[in-house]
Amino acid sequence: MSIVVLRNGNVLQTMMPYTVTRGVDVVIEDDLIKDVGKNLASQYPEAKVYELDGKSVMPGMVCSHHHYYSGLSRGMLVSSGPQSDFIQILKEWWWRLDRALDEEALYYSSLISSIDAISAGTTAVVDHHASPSFITGSLEVIARGMRETGLRGATCYEMTNRNGGVEEARLGAQENISFAASVDAGRARGEYQMVEAMVGGHAPFTLCDASLELMKDAVDTTRRGIHLHIAEDRYDVAYSHHQYHQDIVERLDRAGLLSEKSLLVHGLHLNDSEVETLNARGSFLAHNPRSNMNNNVGYFTRLQDLNNLVLGTDGCGGNMFEEIKIAFFKHRDMGLSWWPSDFVEVLSRGNILLESMFAEKFGRIAPGYKADITVMDYRSPTPLEDDNLATHLVWGMSSNSVDSVMINGKMVMNGRAFDFDVHEIYAKAAEVGRRIWKKVDTIKAH
Ligand SMILES: [Zn+2]
Repeated sequence: MSIVVLRNGNVLQTMMPYTVTRGVDVVIEDDLIKDVGKNLASQYPEAKVYELDGKSVMPGMVCSHHHYYSGLSRGMLVSSGPQSDFIQILKEWWWRLDRALDEEALYYSSLISSIDAISAGTTAVVDHHASPSFITGSLEVIARGMRETGLRGATCYEMTNRNGGVEEARLGAQENISFAASVDAGRARGEYQMVEAMVGGHAPFTLCDASLELMKDAVDTTRRGIHLHIAEDRYDVAYSHHQYHQDIVERLDRAGLLSEKSLLVHGLHLNDSEVETLNARGSFLAHNPRSNMNNNVGYFTRLQDLNNLVLGTDGCGGNMFEEIKIAFFKHRDMGLSWWPSDFVEVLSRGNILLESMFAEKFGRIAPGYKADITVMDYRSPTPLEDDNLATHLVWGMSSNSVDSVMINGKMVMNGRAFDFDVHEIYAKAAEVGRRIWKKVDTIKAH
């Protein structure tokens, strides 16, 4: 048993009700928060003490939709054809990159994406993975990068027909089943699992009915939820109507794929009845405002009607301070009525998504909750109170204020320093990135 005390900090509760409590100690026993209150440190003379000296302590942030396969794409120098609609963006950019990825590239993508997330105060990432030339064993490589940096997470393979028909989807299903089985086996051996499994799928327009049946089998076998893009672009909606004569959500529901463990992504072009169905099934939906703007796919005007809306980046890094700002300002730009407190609620709901996967308590600095904690060196120039905490989070705080990060009771970044050589990893990642870019240049869009 190990005891750690974070002494003399301000506790910021970012799940409703939002509160600010000054001058308290947070006691952590192994992986759980044991006690929160004034002058507790003296009761634990054997504890390892971190002096906060007025710094703030808040629950770690959750990125509810990410693509680690994009880790090496920043500044990618390749020649490509026109990208004037969403399908061309996929074909000319992402689907050439993902076909170039191999084991080494995935491993470095996972390491640098995890370091990027932790550095921004993100303690858990829900990944959605595709690497069609390296499907079998790919999720274990992603998980290895997360575990080695100390990040909590989940991953899954995006089943699809887009390169190899139902056979390709079958390989994806098998990879989802194998990874979930290895998580279950580790847990059965009594080993704590930092990375959970889901059943991934690319998007309904690249999944035929036979593939949806394979997905349903994988859900039943693994007892995990699906993680699937839907209605990101109007093309997905029109394709469903053209090929299947059904709305997307109706098609998924008929296939038995929707539950309170499901994570759908985007949903910009869902209709009222589809939103109702998602709410009735208790499914989560991840909003990714920066990616939507980048792909020019429109705005999710029904987002206020979703019961279980969460926030992701869709591969645009792991910095949730950035994403919540973009979510808020784009919403204002659209003339809709949510305030910072609404978006902080959406971001914090990622913890409920974690609870559905890990069956543990996340998202509060309180006894019995997992010790996934971000220490912030945020010096406010104006009063910081319960009633304006959410406004400070959107308008003032940024990843520049992140000082230290604890995940599962372990201080993985302390005073912005990791206990491994970040520069060496970045240098190697850049080298691998250059090799992958050359490979992408040889791959034709199809
Ligand atoms: Zn995505």
